[in-house]
Amino acid sequence: MSRNRTPIEMAQLQFDQALEYCNIDPNIAVIMRNPKRELTVSLPIKMDDGSTRVFTGYRVQHSMACGPAKGGIRFHPGVTLDEVRALAMWMTWKCSVMDLPFGGGKGGVICNPKELSLGELERLSRRYAVEIAPLIGPLTDIPAPDVNTTPQIMDWISDTLSMLEGAKTVWPYITGKPTELGGSLGRDEATGRGVMITAMAALAARGVPTEGARVVVQGYGNAGSVSAYLLEEQGARIIAMSDSQGAIYHPHGLPVRDVMSYKQRTGPIVGYPTSKPISEAQLLALPCEVLIPAALENTITSENADDIQAQVVAEAANGPAIPEADAILEKKKISVIPDILCNAGGVTVSYLEWVQDMQGYWWERTEVNNRMAEIMTKSFAQVMTISQERKISLRLVAYVKAMMRVAKAIKVRGVFP
Ligand code: NAD
Repeated sequence: MSRNRTPIEMAQLQFDQALEYCNIDPNIAVIMRNPKRELTVSLPIKMDDGSTRVFTGYRVQHSMACGPAKGGIRFHPGVTLDEVRALAMWMTWKCSVMDLPFGGGKGGVICNPKELSLGELERLSRRYAVEIAPLIGPLTDIPAPDVNTTPQIMDWISDTLSMLEGAKTVWPYITGKPTELGGSLGRDEATGRGVMITAMAALAARGVPTEGARVVVQGYGNAGSVSAYLLEEQGARIIAMSDSQGAIYHPHGLPVRDVMSYKQRTGPIVGYPTSKPISEAQLLALPCEVLIPAALENTITSENADDIQAQVVAEAANGPAIPEADAILEKKKISVIPDILCNAGGVTVSYLEWVQDMQGYWWERTEVNNRMAEIMTKSFAQVMTISQERKISLRLVAYVKAMMRVAKAIKVRGVFP
């Protein structure tokens, strides 16, 4: 038991556990266990007060066996190289389990964007883009948004990469862009939509209707809020939600879009009229049909996993449950939809954005949503069927499926030279 295990140790432990169920040559497994390439960059930025501050950024490519590296960029004070390594590894499995033609990568900058002016944030984004540019390209590594990075930041990065190429249009270099600049319709809601699709499928597998289901959402950013309103549209009741400043509860359900506009006006969600403030621990322990951790890693631990009373845990966040917590949830017969499957809607629509950019032809929102739903539903069904047949967890099946595909790609490519 260790809440102090670093994210990469956790990712490698999950890898090792799944490896026992895979028939993978140890000479190939050793390649898959570690990142392929890591870059640390120093980012000197002129601040508005005239001083120069040096930020640190990273880009890690875990695997490019199945295609170009794919993965978001995180702007957060807690970013570490170890965290970026783990997130890159999870991206490899996520792209693989969804059968996308991508490997895994991730980027991060240690900063608190909330403390930066718009100008400082733009200079930081553009400088980071220049420093990681040697690794980026539509056939090598395609970044996307993650925590605290917006379509506007993707656009600054895309525009900077374009300038480096002599002002050529470089749309397929990055996804999650604004729709005016080569972005795809549906990307804004994609992660939440995938969470909604997989959560409903997991409820259906347990014979529980979505209509009237109680849903609890931890983390009220892009992934959490969109999952919440899409599930609400399907008839679920969102009885509790939280952001980094606190949690709120209402037994009859909170009107999601109204809470969103309250948050936009006031900042935190705590204080929303008619809601009762509760602690983070109380939120996680609420009896409900679906719990959606949609904040950061390591929020479900061996200390609080036993308190969870959900039937389904839908991992919108990456790495929210440590492996010991996972074992407790499994013992409690809770269906845990693993992050690499549950939140893969985002990368799936990123893939569709890349396809549209490469062909220079854009689809209607319904077409994007339908294609994404088809890919998500198919992958979820494959994983669920094997999980039910073999009586092993959805996470284990998803990892085994993902790892076997990567191992096969490495095997057929051969080890260069
Ligand atoms: P975001 O920045 O939009 O939102 C994060 C939210 O979490 C914010 O509301 C913040 O207040 C809240 N938060 C932070 N710490 C918290 C805590 N201790 N308790 C409760 N809330 C807390 O980020 P996002 O894009 O929604 O990403 C959230 C998670 O989903 C991350 O793990 C990310 O890697 C994962 N994810 C996001 C996407 C995507 O497309 N946005 C795709 C796949 C995975």
